[in-house]
Amino acid sequence: MTKTGVCYVGVDLGGTSLRALVADDEYKILGVKKVRTLTTGGPARLIHRIAALVESTLEEVGVRRSRVRAVSVGAPGPIDRSRGIVEEAPNLGWRRVPLRSELRQLLRVPVFVENDVNVGLVGEHALGAGRGAKNVVGIFVGTGIGGALILDGKLYEGARGGAGEIGHTVLVVDGPLCGCGRRGCAEALASRTAMERDVRAAIKSGRNSNVLKIMKKKHKERMTSSIIAAALKKNDQVMREVMSRAQFHLGILASNAVNLLDPECVVIGGGIAERLKDSYVDPIRETAYEYFLRPADRDRVRILSGRLGDNAGALGAIVLAKQRLM
Ligand SMILES: [Zn+2]
Repeated sequence: MTKTGVCYVGVDLGGTSLRALVADDEYKILGVKKVRTLTTGGPARLIHRIAALVESTLEEVGVRRSRVRAVSVGAPGPIDRSRGIVEEAPNLGWRRVPLRSELRQLLRVPVFVENDVNVGLVGEHALGAGRGAKNVVGIFVGTGIGGALILDGKLYEGARGGAGEIGHTVLVVDGPLCGCGRRGCAEALASRTAMERDVRAAIKSGRNSNVLKIMKKKHKERMTSSIIAAALKKNDQVMREVMSRAQFHLGILASNAVNLLDPECVVIGGGIAERLKDSYVDPIRETAYEYFLRPADRDRVRILSGRLGDNAGALGAIVLAKQRLM
């Protein structure tokens, strides 16, 4: 721990897992703990679970509560950040939950709440793949596709806090139906959910694929990143085709962002990028290059996978808390 002896707790509140990370003043990780997110019992029960996880993580690393300057949470969905309210998080079953005030009451330390994708990019910008860049676009691929922007060195939130919804950029008019109700969004073409839909459709139409067998063997109901990796390793033809289609669309998406915003760096994050790294990002980068308006951008725009892995969100939440306390 640094001389100041103070530390911060970053919390990544996801739909399936809940992670708390304790770091010192210089972002040295002192401890990380992960538990499952339980949504049964409503928001109050989950907020108690977050507080208990924060406390047990601090206990495990031997840090007293008086040393904690802030607890900072990355939560899914739009956030009213002036009041610390989670506006709507369907995968948690939350609507207008005053997370900051309730957590502050339980933990008695300053609490900050920010959108999970935003904190992920803030983490990658400060400590990971986007280090040193003034302008960074984040594309996070998971069950959906989230986006975030760092412009002029700062998180760009938009006029109403809704900036960065890159996943709902329409790439194919009349394309597949998206969760947002429209058609042909990037999310409906290249998210893990879209890929699973395409794999299942190919199998239903009679194509030969091992994906469902691998899922059964690993006791998974959904096509997770580990299933995708295992199928690619086995050279599953259907998986390869579906993957390369998703990568193509992500390449177009990245090039649109570059042409619009002129960033130095695009970070591709999320579970698939974490697991497959370059083999996932290389084809995305190649397609993006083809669609760059300025061919010289090939030499000056980096398109990279995230470096911080599962800790990006919690670390980014701490970075933001430090900025906001200053
Ligand atoms: Zn959409």
